[in-house]
Amino acid sequence: MDKPKVTVIGSINMDMVTTTSRIPVKGETLIGEGFKMVPGGKGANQAVAAARLGVDVNFIGRVGNDHFGEILIEQLIKQGVTLTGVEPVIAESSGVATILLAEHDNRIMVTPGANNHVTPEYVARYTSIIKQSDIVLLQLEIPLQTIEYVADYCKREGIPVILNPAPAQLLSDSLLRNVSFVTPNETEALAITENIKEHEDKMIVTLGEAGVRYKLDQKEVTVPGFPVAPVDTTGAGDTFNGALAVALARGEEIKQAISYANAAAALSVLHFGAQGGMPDAAAVANFLN
Ligand code: ADP
Repeated sequence: MDKPKVTVIGSINMDMVTTTSRIPVKGETLIGEGFKMVPGGKGANQAVAAARLGVDVNFIGRVGNDHFGEILIEQLIKQGVTLTGVEPVIAESSGVATILLAEHDNRIMVTPGANNHVTPEYVARYTSIIKQSDIVLLQLEIPLQTIEYVADYCKREGIPVILNPAPAQLLSDSLLRNVSFVTPNETEALAITENIKEHEDKMIVTLGEAGVRYKLDQKEVTVPGFPVAPVDTTGAGDTFNGALAVALARGEEIKQAISYANAAAALSVLHFGAQGGMPDAAAVANFLN
């Protein structure tokens, strides 16, 4: 039997993280404590989470024709993500996040660069990849018109879509109708729609360590999280979404799929970094036994 197929359409970034004792004030130059570059972007993170769990993952997105683009592509290939749908943009930078990290404080600037070139026209070149998917996974770090285009296309083709609405913005009712599942955290859930009642049958709301809340046959159900001692919760949501896509692509029922995603996300918070902490299929199976 063929492996289940997940297609992720989204962002690829290089995160540049400077650690400092405090954040500089206006006009001030400070000496930082440390620096590291880590591959990120919610699209890429969720693709890596899914690939680690042993399904076929196709990515549709873009990098710049710069050195970061080469590193980001190499990293995704190493993680087993298929990049037929990734083309560099000429004369554009790769997406970067500039992060200043102090104790109890941070400042983050995201420059989308090549991610802004993931347009509906670009994605339309790769409908053959989308058509073969068991599920499509989207976030909000590429243009909203593209998200709307993909959701509409998948609705017509009968392909289920998970939309992780992060970073949160107000979404149209037609977009929310076209997707199968929406996976906000509690803050995002309040920001994405004024008609929560109309869409609550597809909302899978993540509650941090408490797990997940969703509606099944009009009744509110909570799927509890797994108690662990977290080291770094960066990327918990990305691991959750990648794992949820994997479980649903395998044909699991929604409650079982959420529980699987809770387990993968709980394991991810035991390690530093977003992509660094994502478990493989064997680790999740062990944890659940
Ligand atoms: P985000 O990281 O997007 O804000 P959440 O904090 O809601 O999202 O976390 C997403 C999922 O990750 C949760 O539903 C849960 O399954 C898991 N998770 C997050 N934090 C913890 C934790 N401290 N212990 C166990 N699981 C966690």
